[in-house]
Amino acid sequence: MLGEGILKGLAETARNFFGSFVSKERLTTVQFPEERLPQPEAARNFPFLVYDGDDSQAGLRCVACQICEKECPPKCIFIQKSSDKKPDYIGKQQFYPAVFNIDVSVCMSCQICVEVCPFDAIEMDNAFELSTTDRFRGLLWSREQLAKPNSYFHNIHPATAAEVDERLAEAKARAEAKAKPTVAASTTSQPDSQTTTS
Ligand code: SF4
Ligand code: SF4
Repeated sequence: MLGEGILKGLAETARNFFGSFVSKERLTTVQFPEERLPQPEAARNFPFLVYDGDDSQAGLRCVACQICEKECPPKCIFIQKSSDKKPDYIGKQQFYPAVFNIDVSVCMSCQICVEVCPFDAIEMDNAFELSTTDRFRGLLWSREQLAKPNSYFHNIHPATAAEVDERLAEAKARAEAKAKPTVAASTTSQPDSQTTTS
């Protein structure tokens, strides 16, 4: 019937309007900002950089591989690789981002940077109260502004963060197991070399 959809929509609106006087579930609005709805796990806005430990810069997981920079469709990520290296979470020497900027005025929240990162170093934030009076510099976020602890990641995306932790712990265990024979071999070969020298 012509207009059936419109009538159904109006009936639903009326049901919610009158129902809201008697049933709390039909109150579909909240008094923001005093009241806030809990955000679903999948809510996402702009990316942030995850760090482990207490130091927001030394603990960054990012190794400046620049894959996210290359894959970002609107090219709003800018990375400058460091000239020196620092140990990553498994103790391997890695480069780090000397500069890591995201222009969030251009970011389209596609999450491709997160999908392509091989180090689980970048994740999507759900913060949305980000307005600024400085349209240019205010929306160009630096490495320091982007860094957030793993505990924050757990807070906003608990299931994904737990999955990532598990994956990283497995990778660390594998790396340690691989390093063990080398350590054992070097320990056993030490007395021989000492004997030879003496
Ligand atoms: S979410 Fe998409 S647009 Fe935004 S920085 Fe990541 S890849 Fe670029
Ligand atoms: S965030 Fe990930 S993909 Fe981007 S540079 Fe850092 S390690 Fe590479």
